[in-house]
Amino acid sequence: MSAAGEPPLDGAGTTRATCVLAPNPGLMTLNGTNTWVIAEPGSAATVVVDPGPDDEAHLRRVAGLAEAAGRRVARILLTHGHPDHAEGAARFAALTGAPVLAADPALRLGDEGLAPGDVLTAAGCEIRVVATPGHTADSVCLLLPADGALLTGDTVLGRGTTVIAHDGSLGDYLRTLDDLRALADEAGLRVLLPGHGPLLSDPAGVLDYYIAHRRERLDQVRVAVAAGARTPAEVVAIVYADVDRSLWPAAELSVRAQLDYLGA
Ligand SMILES: [Zn+2]
Repeated sequence: MSAAGEPPLDGAGTTRATCVLAPNPGLMTLNGTNTWVIAEPGSAATVVVDPGPDDEAHLRRVAGLAEAAGRRVARILLTHGHPDHAEGAARFAALTGAPVLAADPALRLGDEGLAPGDVLTAAGCEIRVVATPGHTADSVCLLLPADGALLTGDTVLGRGTTVIAHDGSLGDYLRTLDDLRALADEAGLRVLLPGHGPLLSDPAGVLDYYIAHRRERLDQVRVAVAAGARTPAEVVAIVYADVDRSLWPAAELSVRAQLDYLGA
């Protein structure tokens, strides 16, 4: 499924990263979860990032694509623990025999984790782990320096903006956005590969927009609170008046995080 005017997501990517789109489209998942398959051209191994939901057909398709390319799945990495990214990891590990690496020890299968600053060499590629708490406490982004690409999970989405989950923190998220904006220059990022929605070919521009959008929303929440709004629902009705009502429950999550941040 692809929105009008967008190139298809399935099969999109960079020299070393290819999207396999999971069949779980929705309000929060956009086109569906982007499972990323990473390999150096000519490598006999591959790394799979975010196997996605526990959908047997999708997991078998990802495994089959690796096999058809003559590659063994060497590692499975998770950007964070939300089910639309991580639920299928155990089944995918069973299908492929690969270990699961995650920042959250509870999600790992095997001895390896994903710690900030870790540099993995797998499938002939260097992959650097960047801690990006905010959307969730356990969120990481994965830098693929050879492609100038950053796999962003749900920290930056291909369309719209990210929700701060119950276990996330807006303060952390704002710091993360500033860190990623600096990384965009330092690492010469050319593309963001999100967990949902299309590739983003202007990383610095996208991050500038995210940062400006967060500041603007925070200012709006301050104004709504000053005007007497008290509950998250009251704030949403004012600040998100121009947004489709089907998105208000998600907006309420964000507003909760904003009110926490403002100490209201
Ligand atoms: Zn998520």
